Amino acid sequence: MVVKSVDGRELRSFRFKDEDEGQEVRAVERRILLETLASELPPDAVQFSSKLAKIERSETGKTLLELVDGTQLSAKIVIGCDGIRSPVAKWMGFSEPKYVGHCAFRGLGFYPNGQPHQPKVNYIYGRGLRAGYVPVSPTKVYWFVCFNSPSPGPKISDPFVLKKQAVELVRNWPSELLSIIELTPDDTIIRTPLVDRWLWPAVSPPASAGGVVLVGDAWHPMTPNLGQGACCALEDSVVLARKLVGAMKSGTTSVEDALRSYGSERWPRIFPLTIRANFVGSLLQWENPIVCSVRNNFIIPKLVRLGPILEHTNFDCEPLQ
Ligand SMILES: Cc1cc2nc3c(=O)[nH]c(=O)nc-3n(C[C@H](O)[C@H](O)[C@H](O)COP(=O)(O)OP(=O)(O)OC[C@H]3O[C@@H](n4cnc5c(N)ncnc54)[C@H](O)[C@@H]3O)c2cc1C
Repeated sequence: MVVKSVDGRELRSFRFKDEDEGQEVRAVERRILLETLASELPPDAVQFSSKLAKIERSETGKTLLELVDGTQLSAKIVIGCDGIRSPVAKWMGFSEPKYVGHCAFRGLGFYPNGQPHQPKVNYIYGRGLRAGYVPVSPTKVYWFVCFNSPSPGPKISDPFVLKKQAVELVRNWPSELLSIIELTPDDTIIRTPLVDRWLWPAVSPPASAGGVVLVGDAWHPMTPNLGQGACCALEDSVVLARKLVGAMKSGTTSVEDALRSYGSERWPRIFPLTIRANFVGSLLQWENPIVCSVRNNFIIPKLVRLGPILEHTNFDCEPLQ
């Protein structure tokens, strides 16, 4: 990992394995992850483009789902893994995720003849503005630019405008970042207002109720400052699958108990991470020039140690049997 200032000066570089033998970073393209997971299932197990329009409880205790194409489904168990704007979470009484004051542009730079970058995570820290990039394949480099904004702003989907705005933010920053952004195909560039939801005990609804359970961002939207949102969604899935299989095999544990047990096991992991990610984001988005100078010239080069910062990534949810 390499941390630079906006003039390209290297502030610090780490090798993950030097800090902790168990550490590594794997950058995975979302499409590849989804295809890999789906390929493990029977061909017709996943039905795509099934947008949920309505959800309600039936008199028999089942959950009725209505899709936008009019399809109606009656389910014994519903696993709501429908992301930060989850209609399932809303129906269960969860509050809307809260905007945290910064937005991120993201994209995948494409190099048809092979990308030239070393397999390193690169961060560049400015004032109220930071960026990063990391190769995800021999031809693709993921990048982001995170910036302060008092409001989430209007939804913009024109990729030309998005790219122009992202470039404008980092115009005089290291040229390798700018060229990755320039080489980003239109369909991979997006702008996301960053949000989270703190699951305060006794205030927030439980993760499950009446055979409906939440997984991933639908339950615990967190800011991406620790790079743990998708990791936690995968951990949730492993734990939930284990609990459900246990209930089905044992015959003594009910599905409701299994879902409750999933919520209790996962909460101590995801609640502190959500808060920590929020605090880390606030520190990294500092704008004050003196504070940023102390951060870049003293805290990062002299004080920061990677091991303790990445300690949360050592979590082991154990493999599925
Ligand atoms: C800038 C940024 C950088 C990030 N970096 C990292 C990182 O480095 N590492 C990491 O682990 N995480 C990272 N994350 C977080 C990560 O993207 C999310 O935590 C992760 O995608 C959550 O997975 P999910 O399956 O819960 O939700 P999603 O990936 O959002 O998937 C939800 C799915 O539900 C579908 N859906 C939505 N509404 C409906 C509906 N009404 N009916 C049916 N389906 C619906 C959507 O189409 C989508 O397929 C980052 C996030 C951001 C914004």
